[in-house]
Amino acid sequence: MMDMVGTEEAGMETGRRMKAAVVRETSPGEHRVALVPDAIARLQSAGIDVLVESGAGDGAWLTDAAYADAGASIVSAAEIYRTADVILTVTRPQPGALSELRPGQAVIGMLAPLSDPEFAAALAARGVTVISLDGLPRTLSRAQPMDALTSQSNVAGYKAVLVAAGEFGRFFPMLITSAGTARPAKVLVLGTGVAGLQAIGTARRLGAVVSGYDVRPSSRDEVTSLGATFVELTSVGSAAGEGGYARELTADERQAQQEELTGHIARQDVVITTAQVPGRKPPLLVTEDAVKAMAPGSVIVDMAASPFGGNVTGSVPGETSVTGNGVTIVGAENLAATVPTAASNAYSRNISALLLHLTSGGALAIDTSDPIQAGVVIAHDGRVVHQDVAGLLRVEGDAGVDGTAD
Ligand code: NAD
Repeated sequence: MMDMVGTEEAGMETGRRMKAAVVRETSPGEHRVALVPDAIARLQSAGIDVLVESGAGDGAWLTDAAYADAGASIVSAAEIYRTADVILTVTRPQPGALSELRPGQAVIGMLAPLSDPEFAAALAARGVTVISLDGLPRTLSRAQPMDALTSQSNVAGYKAVLVAAGEFGRFFPMLITSAGTARPAKVLVLGTGVAGLQAIGTARRLGAVVSGYDVRPSSRDEVTSLGATFVELTSVGSAAGEGGYARELTADERQAQQEELTGHIARQDVVITTAQVPGRKPPLLVTEDAVKAMAPGSVIVDMAASPFGGNVTGSVPGETSVTGNGVTIVGAENLAATVPTAASNAYSRNISALLLHLTSGGALAIDTSDPIQAGVVIAHDGRVVHQDVAGLLRVEGDAGVDGTAD
């Protein structure tokens, strides 16, 4: 059943337009912004007025004047929390800002509710509608313009190569100069989903000799079509899982994979890892033995580095270290935020497309029988309505599923 958010007075009857607001991101190192000025005209023509917190675009080199010229109202955070119907963010607002949200308001962003279901329960209890782009059904073709995981992975895959090139003491391309010939760098990308394929394309454009590996055999053609070599492992078969993702390997498969990969890794100058399995700890692909087998000056960028472990032994998110044998290991963290203008441009298109999809007659029209909404609407009408998030809360024995958490 369809349910209108943004309050009755935001509906068509009164002619009041929806107010969507962009807040300044507050997470450490976050330079992106949820909407760019180019998005404003399209939203306005759909009955949505845009408020922008002063300075929200600064990190992405988008000035208040540019937003005002595009038709936005530049306001304070206090005014946003007092008057907006919908608040647009990139990542989850800090706890202080979350406590400002009032009943009937909606927040839309990449809110990671599966990694912290309690946050969704707390907002549900306060009557806030929670909508998260991370839950989008990505294989649905009409959802693709809203796919922020893909757009941000693309940016991150590109930047991972630049980070690796910055740490590497030699050239990526072959260079023939009067001072001698430099051989091209050998780059191996482990995990060739969205970020991995962008990393392959970027490393190729820089002139490296590139190879890629994934447990999904279907990625082979994508790797080779970018001019890279696909690494075949004889010890591990297909691990294609559901929805285009990989499944977790068994312990035996994991060990065989690590041992066989070690030989390939030892021959590389640069390794970029991106492997993830939804809902699981990232698989360990580059063991201590593999790192020890690399030559001094080699570089590894682990895009899967997380507090729960990454694809590379010893990688720590946000930290760069050099091993005893001279291998630089970069634990990448939020790389998309380090290319903030490109990342914000893409994200702005994604979140605008989702907002327009959700809006009808000047208000959010919540209808979880729509597959896109079933994926993204986490909490509404005082309840956690997203099945997986509600399931996690039940497992934890939390009363918040029915919105009674504090
Ligand atoms: P992801 O971030 O979950 O994982 C990155 C890659 O790691 C994946 O390619 C995965 O197969 C690989 N991986 C996992 N375990 C591994 C292991 N042990 N060894 C080696 N590689 C391993 O994936 P993603 O980039 O979000 O995309 C995953 C899939 O979803 C891809 O097939 C992609 O094309 C597909 N996708 C489709 C659409 C669409 O249809 N519109 C949109 C987005 C993604």
